[in-house]
Amino acid sequence: MRVLVLNCGSSSVKFAIVDTKTGAFSVSGLVEEIGGNTRFTAKKGGEKHEKKIDAPDHTHALATIQSFFKETGEDSDIAAVGHRVVHGGEKFSKSVLINDEVIKAIEECSVLAPLHNPPNLQGIAAAKKNFPNLAQVAVFDTAFHGSLPNYAYLYGLPYNFYEDYKIRRYGFHGSSHRFVAKKTSDILGQNLKDLCLVIAHLGNGCSAAAVKFGLSADTTLGLTPLEGMVMGTRSGSIDPGIILHLMKSLGYDYDKLNKLLNKESGLLGLSGISSDMRVLLGEAEKGSERAKIAIEVFCYRVAKEIGSLVPALPKLDAFVFTGGIGENSEPVRKKILSFLSVFKFGEPNGPKVMVVPTNEELMIAMDTEEVVKV
Ligand code: ADP
Repeated sequence: MRVLVLNCGSSSVKFAIVDTKTGAFSVSGLVEEIGGNTRFTAKKGGEKHEKKIDAPDHTHALATIQSFFKETGEDSDIAAVGHRVVHGGEKFSKSVLINDEVIKAIEECSVLAPLHNPPNLQGIAAAKKNFPNLAQVAVFDTAFHGSLPNYAYLYGLPYNFYEDYKIRRYGFHGSSHRFVAKKTSDILGQNLKDLCLVIAHLGNGCSAAAVKFGLSADTTLGLTPLEGMVMGTRSGSIDPGIILHLMKSLGYDYDKLNKLLNKESGLLGLSGISSDMRVLLGEAEKGSERAKIAIEVFCYRVAKEIGSLVPALPKLDAFVFTGGIGENSEPVRKKILSFLSVFKFGEPNGPKVMVVPTNEELMIAMDTEEVVKV
């Protein structure tokens, strides 16, 4: 089945037409800076297409994407649209066909993901306008972690904060962890239901998941995608007392804290150079101490978060790296593993270490197929 996969951010739309049988992307691309200096880029059959476009909103961006499909003969046989939706709250533990009730429920989750769910909804509305005859499916980043036990998802806050405000750990990168778990079991030739895995998704955002017999048993991201590991520009877990201190002693308000923790911290904040691991590895090679320390903190904190998942699993068969950094950087993987020598990873009697490329778009397409086929 040919599925149009959409990932809509506040000012961008990532798109791909994915063949669920072969896993091939016949076309993929990006519209960025919607509402400003909008650019359209697409790849089809090894050819790159680029142009400036006029797109004041997501509906216009999708109209351009649709015309491109028409011009290039890609518009036929698209069977459905699969949307990446970031936050499904407690309501969605699997992918669903989008109807008015689902849209309302996604809206209700917006309070938990104010930067992500509203643009996801704009994308859904725009896709309904541009592709009115196609079924639309929502695939949630949080859904895979719906199996966390309550002792893993509750924070040490008064219980009513969970009951009244839904403040709990949800986790993200669910489509990636689910895809990689399945792929790992295929590679090992073992049933996923027999395996216990730790998967580290290391990209611009980073998280690990403990996958126990096919289900997520714990993960390192929480209510929002800020918890856990040090990321490209996000701080990861810090002493919550730091926030109190910044408010009380340095006059930080919501906007300043939000910017600090989400945009100015992590690899970028530590190095003062870049959030991009490739750049930092290059600078470290040239002798930059700040790049070196940023990489070292990153690796140590990944290792520490991996260790935090130990209580979630009765055994460990394999530790799997994925995401841009996890898949491509051997020096980073080596450094992380050096902090985890206690596990004897890769040794004859120790758990395996693997690198398994993720493919969130294919996971979304496969889920979409499964939902619309019913
Ligand atoms: P996103 O989370 O936005 O999907 P990716 O999974 O593509 O991001 O990961 C982006 C990160 O992967 C960047 O920090 C980039 O530098 C890093 N990366 C990609 N290729 C390499 C490489 N060969 N060596 C080191 N880091 C790499």
